[in-house]
Amino acid sequence: MARVGVFICHCGANIAGKVDVEAVSEAAINIPGVVYSSHQKYSCSEAGQKVIIDAIKENRLDRVVIGSCSPKMHENTFRKTVQQAGLNSYMLEIANLREHVSWVTADKDEATKKAMDLVKAAVGKVSFAKPLTPGQVPVEKRALVIGGGIAGIQAALDIADMGYEVVMVEREPSIGGRMAQLDKTFPTLDCSACILSPRMVDVAQHPNIRLLTYSEVENVNGYVGNFNVIIRKKARFVDERICTGCLECMGKCPLKKKIPNEFENGRAPRGAIYVPFAQAVPKVPVIDKEYCRYLLSPDPDKVEVKEGEKKPKRKCGVCAKVCTQGAVDFNQQDELISEKFGAIVLATGFNLFDHSKYGEYGAGKIPDVITALDFERIVNSSGPTEGKIVRPSNGEKPKRVVFIQCVGSRDEAKGVPYCSRICCMYTAKQAILVREKLPDAEIYVFYMDIRAAGKGYEEFVLRAQREYGANYVRGRVSRIYESNGHMVLKAADTLVGMPVEMDDVDLVVLATGSIAREDSVELANTIGITTDNHGFISEVHPKLRPVEVPREGVFACGACLSPRDIPDAVATAGAVAAKVGVLFSNDILMSDPMVAEIDPLKCAACGACVSVCPYSAITMEEFRGKKFAKVNEAMCQGCGTCSAACRPGAAQLKGQTDEQILRSIEAVLQW
Ligand SMILES: Cc1cc2nc3c(=O)[nH]c(=O)nc-3n(C[C@H](O)[C@H](O)[C@H](O)COP(=O)(O)OP(=O)(O)OC[C@H]3O[C@@H](n4cnc5c(N)ncnc54)[C@H](O)[C@@H]3O)c2cc1C
Repeated sequence: MARVGVFICHCGANIAGKVDVEAVSEAAINIPGVVYSSHQKYSCSEAGQKVIIDAIKENRLDRVVIGSCSPKMHENTFRKTVQQAGLNSYMLEIANLREHVSWVTADKDEATKKAMDLVKAAVGKVSFAKPLTPGQVPVEKRALVIGGGIAGIQAALDIADMGYEVVMVEREPSIGGRMAQLDKTFPTLDCSACILSPRMVDVAQHPNIRLLTYSEVENVNGYVGNFNVIIRKKARFVDERICTGCLECMGKCPLKKKIPNEFENGRAPRGAIYVPFAQAVPKVPVIDKEYCRYLLSPDPDKVEVKEGEKKPKRKCGVCAKVCTQGAVDFNQQDELISEKFGAIVLATGFNLFDHSKYGEYGAGKIPDVITALDFERIVNSSGPTEGKIVRPSNGEKPKRVVFIQCVGSRDEAKGVPYCSRICCMYTAKQAILVREKLPDAEIYVFYMDIRAAGKGYEEFVLRAQREYGANYVRGRVSRIYESNGHMVLKAADTLVGMPVEMDDVDLVVLATGSIAREDSVELANTIGITTDNHGFISEVHPKLRPVEVPREGVFACGACLSPRDIPDAVATAGAVAAKVGVLFSNDILMSDPMVAEIDPLKCAACGACVSVCPYSAITMEEFRGKKFAKVNEAMCQGCGTCSAACRPGAAQLKGQTDEQILRSIEAVLQW
């Protein structure tokens, strides 16, 4: 007969404020198999853990139930606690009385009753627990960094400096991310390219870093310490090993000023063969197959030619003709690269809200309504206007410039209830840049609240107002329309409670909010991790484990976690590097023993488990003419999909067997 001990945690007032913990503890002693029950203020504290250890020893407990917060929070802590008392650490069950009860149940009696039921279920389940032993897996000490913005760059450099090999995968032709598009950076106003470019070069030159640009991750298999990753290196049609970066080819492309340059936010043209910007790393052009005349023209070898007709010729190809190195290679194909990694770092950054959803601001229709990113490029000396702030409609200097904050932030109606955190600051920066370049311009900033929480940030916003004369108006703009070659803006000043009408506005800059990358959910699915409601990568715990994601060995940094500025992106990148360093300090890892196992005697060899396993961890085997499914324990992630699909009940998840689940249901119904 099992000897179960029950420990109910108050979690301060988190649980005890709603659940009558004494009553739950008293009721638990009457559950069959329970020989000890108590309650503590904080079971996870040192004193709380000592109570558990002493009680296990004194009462010869062989199984433990702890009624506390989510197992996500403290299961590992309590596993170590029971192990210290001499028990196998898997003879433990957690009843989640916080997230599943006190935080979500309004009525105290209902909450207490539900807590009692969950404790009964946990006792029922733990009564059938069996000791489990973790396996050992070697660690591949190589890291994959996905995304080459400032966060990915910093993480890669830090990991590489620790002596570990890094492969960086960036989907654009160059690394740099959004920071490469910025002019100056708040709050120090240092030139973005000047502080970023040396780091980009460091990545390219670091002996421990291999850079794969114009590439994407296609598939991820495996587990912490041993991920198998397939990377698609898209055809660049220029051989990176041969190209010298002379860029002669670009100058000769007949489409050289015909295609909107994404780096310039579409405000300057590029050719079909191009490098996105002057400081690109690698400085090797790429041919855009959507536009290239040669690649779009039919392949003469594949065209059916009637008798007497001439074989057609490919169009253009001038870039290949002018390349003295012979680096242009129109036959290049996408390459699939398979690599093994011990850790994966996600640093895929963010996107910007589509401002055309604010039709009332004339966005996308009125040429002099631009976005903050447009402004960054316009004010930049290597941008489309060589740094001159001019009206896109007529090229003239604007006399009255209006900034509008929170366009696609803190707007529930537009599906973005959160604050993008960077817009108040970059708007203040852009207001300062306007004053520096246009000393006589009038500058207005329409804001909801100023959020300037950061070192020197509040002072920076005050400088924009006091030193640089930006007029801050608290209020929401309701409409902008064109009139007499300028714009009229209607708003409400919410401080004085008066409507505002401003005419003769020359330039409007919209502070568009940050959103998750459009493919973030797809990428998360590929890697086997989750995203939040808005598509940003979910962390294990926002306070205690802010750069770890719920798949061991995978980490995230920068703006793919949530909107953030450069200092925050760099700080999280450093934190990720430290976590990877800790992981790689082990030669061998203990693997989770809660994996699937298949009883060959019960297996009907139907293959259902093989087809549903998301980790390809199950294969069909044959022994003496009998076929059966077998689990590769090192690859199994313990998701339990196979056991749900297995009709004969041959597939079972250790620690979550059918017997344990049924017993926990029975416990609630019968006890
Ligand atoms: C208008 C504007 C002005 C700003 N001004 C400032 C400022 O003055 N100071 C400041 O501190 N911050 C500023 N910021 C914020 C700053 O841009 C961000 O903090 C920073 O870019 C975040 O870096 P990141 O590496 O996390 O993301 P990103 O810069 O977005 O980089 C992510 C990288 O990942 C790549 N990627 C994405 N998906 C994939 C994939 N699936 N596979 C491979 N690669 C992928 C992208 O191509 C990109 O290169 C500003 C932002 C904006 C919009």
